[in-house]
Amino acid sequence: MASVGFIGLGNMGGPMAANLVKAGFAVKAFDLGEAACARARERGCTIVPSVAEAASDVDVVVSMLPAGTHVRAVYTGPEGVLAHARPGTLMIDCSTIDVDSARVVAKACDDAGMAMIDAPVSGGVGGAEAGTLTFMVGGPDASFEAAQPYLQAMGKTIVHAGGAGNGQAAKICNNMLLGIGMIGTCEAFALAGRLGLDAQKLFDISSKASGQNWSMTSYCPVPGPVPTSPANRAYQPGFAADMMLKDLKLAQDAAAKVGAATPLGGAAEALYQLFSAQGHGGMDFSGIIKMLDGSLGR
Ligand code: NAD
Repeated sequence: MASVGFIGLGNMGGPMAANLVKAGFAVKAFDLGEAACARARERGCTIVPSVAEAASDVDVVVSMLPAGTHVRAVYTGPEGVLAHARPGTLMIDCSTIDVDSARVVAKACDDAGMAMIDAPVSGGVGGAEAGTLTFMVGGPDASFEAAQPYLQAMGKTIVHAGGAGNGQAAKICNNMLLGIGMIGTCEAFALAGRLGLDAQKLFDISSKASGQNWSMTSYCPVPGPVPTSPANRAYQPGFAADMMLKDLKLAQDAAAKVGAATPLGGAAEALYQLFSAQGHGGMDFSGIIKMLDGSLGR
């Protein structure tokens, strides 16, 4: 059975590595944090003391790290993956990072004779635990095919979005739309409340009319209409507002670099920045309705 080096065993990486173990892969894993390593050890990973050891003598390296700076350092640093992996190793970076870093690291891998795909995910910690993540993949066709057994062990839907960096591009475009859609949905419910229109009534009408969207029908920001939505559990995440803010910043940075006009994406970033600055970054991102309807702290 093929062997995997896994780097970054946090909220997402920990369960993803565990699902690779469950699928029968031998997983050598590393994280800077002791607690993350201990949890992964309990779930069948062999913990090693460095990135270099995780990347040595494996068929595939999977990483799940916070941001582009971490990914650049882990892959291209002096004691990094590229310095220690054997030629032909397949690299799968599942972190959500900036498109530029994804393309720079993919090029460095290519120059070193190793293929890389960027494969950011949606589905959150629940999807990581259940092995039902959606992967948005950028990279060459052959690498996309070679990655299938590993991605299938961790996810359910796997989409090839094009060349290097396009997985990240898909992720930030989708999440920018999600952030804008959530704010719009919150504004509609806040306005309905002020106009004396019952939230359930707005839901019943709008979920079948032209205002219908995912933030309303699957993740409704008011308690009641969608029993599984975080609004029913005091906005416990779910998907934390600070994670949404991170993705909106990535989208705005990317837009500025290529000269794309994304004014609503910019407004969404500013609103989530304000929500976070008020101390609510740990709340589910649908909790921004409480800032918009003036009920924060009430
Ligand atoms: P996390 O902070 O829980 O985990 C990141 C882990 O990386 C930490 O355990 C940290 O110690 C480790 N790490 C950092 N630098 C390292 C290094 N040099 N070597 C080894 N380990 C290192 O974050 P997370 O929630 O697991 O998110 C990981 C990535 O997944 C992020 O890019 C995030 O945007 C993305 N993501 C998260 C979610 C979510 O719901 N949590 C959903 C989709 C995508």
